[in-house]
Amino acid sequence: MYKIANEQLPSLFAAIAGRMDLYMPLRKNGQVNYGIWSREEETALDALNTVKSPKDFFFPQSENLYTCYREGKKISITPEELADAPFAIFGIRGCDVKGIEVLDKVFLADPVDKFYEARRNHGVLISMACHEPEETCFCKVFGVEAQNPAGDVTTWMVDGTLYWRANTEKGGKLTEELAADGLLAGADQTGEAAVEAEQSSVAAIVEKLPYSNISLETFKNTEMLELFNSPKWEELYKACLACGTCTFICPTCQCYDIRDYNTGNGIQRFRCWDSCMYSDFTLMAHGNIRNSQKERFRQRFMHKLVYFPENNDGMFSCVGCGRCVSKCPSSLNIVKVIKSLGVSEDV
Ligand code: SF4
Ligand code: SF4
Repeated sequence: MYKIANEQLPSLFAAIAGRMDLYMPLRKNGQVNYGIWSREEETALDALNTVKSPKDFFFPQSENLYTCYREGKKISITPEELADAPFAIFGIRGCDVKGIEVLDKVFLADPVDKFYEARRNHGVLISMACHEPEETCFCKVFGVEAQNPAGDVTTWMVDGTLYWRANTEKGGKLTEELAADGLLAGADQTGEAAVEAEQSSVAAIVEKLPYSNISLETFKNTEMLELFNSPKWEELYKACLACGTCTFICPTCQCYDIRDYNTGNGIQRFRCWDSCMYSDFTLMAHGNIRNSQKERFRQRFMHKLVYFPENNDGMFSCVGCGRCVSKCPSSLNIVKVIKSLGVSEDV
């Protein structure tokens, strides 16, 4: 394990930014979102959730796929270039790292999404353990350790010192370079003990959070059709405004639409995020497969809690980040669904 004093962080960031683009949570106009680091920016490493999750780095909100150009009878097709420059994301929380693992299951499964794969191959995830998780967090339910997040590198901020542990070859390479530059120093036993104490303290906070121990057993042990046909959906969906906020801020939602933009002498084919909460989602020539908001609402949660785990060795497609808990304008969220359909004595 390595360490660096808090005051030296700008030098560490400058050293990383000298090698590759460096992104981290930045505070702008009262909101915290990922942005490219520079000495002039206000970093927000104390913030837990960014408004938008880091999924944009690998699955951007909108991206071109290819361009068709027509000249007379001749048509040329130029695919969009794949990402080929390394970049680092500093300060990702454990839930969002897990969110990227969920996206990997979708985009890296056969047939592999080359755009996503290229970005994943070039991105270095430098996670940061949470210090004081919020009441809306329930990552523990999905097996995330807020006190010990995954990633290529894991960091902890303890009493004015940043501790740094490389987890993968990619993380190890960057670590070696930064240590060789004299920016990271080896942490002694006292430092290791400080991190262990921090981990225990955070785990104790997580344990006491209101949603930390909600049970998912119902979703593991109940027949899919029984959950699908539950009369509880009838009440649950009613407050939903179909605004799509929950899907756009969610680190694991991965639905997209593909469209063509008429350039005048051809088309530009692009894809952009879509939401299963929208009435025209998956609209086809013959009509829609989900005609009511109840069906659309049910689809979102059945996918996260039943269909996705069924197809991915039990992995749920929610990571308990709590964004939908704090952002839904109708105070609807996945916790309400789990509580309503789940085992009530655990909540
Ligand atoms: S954020 Fe709330 S109101 Fe908006 S679509 Fe999601 S559940 Fe419905
Ligand atoms: S469903 Fe809600 S809590 Fe779960 S990962 Fe998405 S935004 Fe976070």
